[in-house]
Amino acid sequence: MSALVVFCRDCGKQVTSSQTRDGRCLDCQVRRSVAALRDEHARLWRKRERYRTRNANVDQIGRQIAKIEDRIAQRIRELVPNDREAVDHLRRELEAIRGQRYTIKGV
Ligand SMILES: [Zn+2]
Repeated sequence: MSALVVFCRDCGKQVTSSQTRDGRCLDCQVRRSVAALRDEHARLWRKRERYRTRNANVDQIGRQIAKIEDRIAQRIRELVPNDREAVDHLRRELEAIRGQRYTIKGV
C-alpha cells in the first residue's frame, strides 16, 4: 500500500492519504462530526449551572448531558476504528468541552 502524504485541509497537519476523508485528518473529522453535539452540551451545561444557582433540581439536565456525551462517544466510535484511539479521542473531546465550561465559570 502506498502511503501518500497529504496536508489536512482544515488544520494543515501532514497525514497519510489513507487516514484522510474529504481531505481532512481524523482529528478534524472527529471535531466536525461532534461540533453540533458540543454546542448542545455547552448549552445544557450552562443551563445546569443556572439551575444550580437557584437550587433547582438538576438531575434531568444531568441525564441529558450524559446522553449527549454518549452520542459524542458513538460518533467517535463510528469514525475511529481503533478502540484505544477512539477512547483517546473521546477523552480529549470531553476534556475540551468540560474545560471550556470551567473556564467560563471561573471568569
Ligand atoms: Zn486536520
